[in-house]
Amino acid sequence: MPINVTLIPGDGIGPSITDATVRLLAAAGADLTWDRQLAGMAAVKEYNDPIPDATIESIKRTKLALKGPLETPVGKGFRSINVALRKAFDLYANVRPAKSVIPGLRFSDVDIILVRENTEGLYIGIENYIKVGDDERAAAQSVAVVTRLGAERIHRYAFEFAVLHGRKKVSLVHKANILKLSQGLFLDVGREIAKEYAGRIEVEEKIVDACAMELVMRPERFDVIVTTNLFGDILSDLTSGLVGGLGLTPGANIGKNAAIFEAVHGTAPDIAGKGIANPTAVMLAACQMLDHIGDTALGTRVRNAVENTLRARKTVTGDIGGTATTEQYTDAVIANL
Ligand code: NAD
Repeated sequence: MPINVTLIPGDGIGPSITDATVRLLAAAGADLTWDRQLAGMAAVKEYNDPIPDATIESIKRTKLALKGPLETPVGKGFRSINVALRKAFDLYANVRPAKSVIPGLRFSDVDIILVRENTEGLYIGIENYIKVGDDERAAAQSVAVVTRLGAERIHRYAFEFAVLHGRKKVSLVHKANILKLSQGLFLDVGREIAKEYAGRIEVEEKIVDACAMELVMRPERFDVIVTTNLFGDILSDLTSGLVGGLGLTPGANIGKNAAIFEAVHGTAPDIAGKGIANPTAVMLAACQMLDHIGDTALGTRVRNAVENTLRARKTVTGDIGGTATTEQYTDAVIANL
């Protein structure tokens, strides 16, 4: 029986990199049926709704989505669809791996799994302006919410992931020295969960600023990182940079009842429509999806084809120093299957 997957092509470079991924998966013989749905600006243009009911209903049905990046207006307009989707399906764990594959970069031995809490913290969306005199926007506040339940499940996810994938160490990354309540609760819960894994998984605590410095200087000493929403968002772009940039790193958004797989990067408006975007991140997100549905053999085969193409560095896109178009790179990956 083919597995049904909701496909959201997305905005900007989204349609071209998701098309490339669909083509690769078909060539690999993946038994998937795609249910194409719109979200983001593409859905605003078509339905005047950034996240149409049909898209939500489709994910409810399939419990599985592969998604291109979605455009979110900065500072005004509708709230991020990505955040809304994560909330709608309670996709609490954002798993963003960064692994050295391309030869000749500054680092050759990065292999980090960043596990980011995906539903709470500063991204919870509790924000308001404070009026002073005539100034409606004299001040603004955004509230960071950490719950015991939210902290427990993300730490447990990180430790379970470590056990399942033969990882050695989990770094608890926080800012509890300053944000004593919200970050303090997150860290305390992490320490409690860590005790359950004593003797199996090494644990260390890192303050986020020091962690950022160490990631840039000695990334090889990190294994699994677990952290809150905003820190995870920022640090995962940093870890992308360690292995060759945003074009390469995928992300899985995992909940109890659904999972959405995507690239870490955005819509890349500067190169949209030029046919030169790197589809690697969405291709690797599709591999995470194949692993998630239990087809690890196919996930590994497709991942190897992508990695071997990158390693050869012959037919690669401009962001990593090549001249290939999205299509040419995809052909090269297919040839390496
Ligand atoms: P971006 O990730 O789109 O681009 C940053 C830089 O990286 C650009 O120079 C871009 O050309 C390059 N880049 C990104 N992906 C690439 C790829 N696959 N191949 C080659 N080069 C690539 O970040 P941004 O410009 O800050 O954001 C643009 C839009 O994307 C915004 O509307 C933002 O809200 C949205 N966004 C969406 C998601 C998502 O849907 N998950 C994530 C991040 C940003």
